Amino acid sequence: MSRFADELDALRRQGLYRTLRTVAGAQTPRVTLDGREVLLLCSNNYLGLADHPRLKEAAIEATARYGTGSGASRLVSGTMELHTALEERIARFKGTEAALLFNAGYAANSGIIPAIAGRGDVIFCDRLNHASILDGCLLSRARLVRYPHNDTAALRRLLERHPTEGLRLIVTDGVFSMDGDCAPLAEIVRLKEEFGALLMVDDAHGTGVLGASGRGTAEQCGVAAGIDIQMGTLGKALGSFGAYAAVSREIAAYLVNKARSFIFSTSLPPATLAAAVAAFDIVDAPEGAKLRRQLRDNSRRFRERLTAAGFDTMGSETQIVPLRVGEAEKAMAFTAKLLEQGLYVQGIRPPTVPAGSSRLRCTLMATHDPAELAAAADAIAGTGRELGLI
Ligand SMILES: *Cc1c(COP(=O)(O)O)cnc(C)c1O
Repeated sequence: MSRFADELDALRRQGLYRTLRTVAGAQTPRVTLDGREVLLLCSNNYLGLADHPRLKEAAIEATARYGTGSGASRLVSGTMELHTALEERIARFKGTEAALLFNAGYAANSGIIPAIAGRGDVIFCDRLNHASILDGCLLSRARLVRYPHNDTAALRRLLERHPTEGLRLIVTDGVFSMDGDCAPLAEIVRLKEEFGALLMVDDAHGTGVLGASGRGTAEQCGVAAGIDIQMGTLGKALGSFGAYAAVSREIAAYLVNKARSFIFSTSLPPATLAAAVAAFDIVDAPEGAKLRRQLRDNSRRFRERLTAAGFDTMGSETQIVPLRVGEAEKAMAFTAKLLEQGLYVQGIRPPTVPAGSSRLRCTLMATHDPAELAAAADAIAGTGRELGLI
């Protein structure tokens, strides 16, 4: 057998083999998955903007006016008016001097971190940070120190234990993507100041959602000014695609010159950019506040119902609600049984999460119907009991 077939067999035996499922139509609360109608409980389209009429109109208009492709990387001819307009919009939204677009959150993290830190520097990275952060750290060749999840006492000890002539970078998710809990940013900002470190926060799941005006985890914790690099994505709550770093003018200029994923990649296309601008306008309007309220209410009720049924929701405080299962096979059996009942919830296994902590990861949308969510929670609890999980 070939090494590929061997490896695929090994994955199957461990319950870690992955396949793709196809969704027909837009990312709405009810979708057709491989031909059958299901309730979608695993999309990050948190505010329902991915098929919002205003984003679609903006994308269509931009395509009519600017075409479908940008044709080049940003430093060649690929900086169009829309890139500049969106960067200005993001800086205004985040209250920073500047913002710089990246082609995806993955490209942002794997480009920004190696641009900022290198040999002789030390990166302090939460153990549960997103894979793209870890990849950025590995690419950087800086010394990597991983601290226990959200443990600021341990982070302090590690900062004391790893002095350097070079730079110290602390990097954390704002909202942890597989756990739905938030980083203790106020305390992390205190540590970064005390130790003279730089701080980068990945707010892929907080942007547009958390804080009174949707500015993200930093707004919720009241610490935006203490964060040197606020990274966020445009493909989740904002319903478009791409990512940004909200930073000082100096760091923006530095990244333009040093971040390889920014320099060596064709820039985002017009439709995507215009849709993102429209999304920020909605997030800033009363409509955005209303969607955030609906999302928070949906999330809280769903989580409370499942906690009451006996599930461990792993400290979730957001629209990401994990249900701890443990073994990968069990999580996948759970997912399969729910799918039979018309509920699409993704099971999450290693290497996405640590071994033994496989889970169902439910994600809520502002556009879910509360009654339908209550019924779904009850069906999930019933299946959990059948499988002996609660
Ligand atoms: C989704 C995600 C990313 C990657 O963003 P993309 O735009 O999807 O590439 C990065 N960090 C976190 C925490 C994420 O959840």
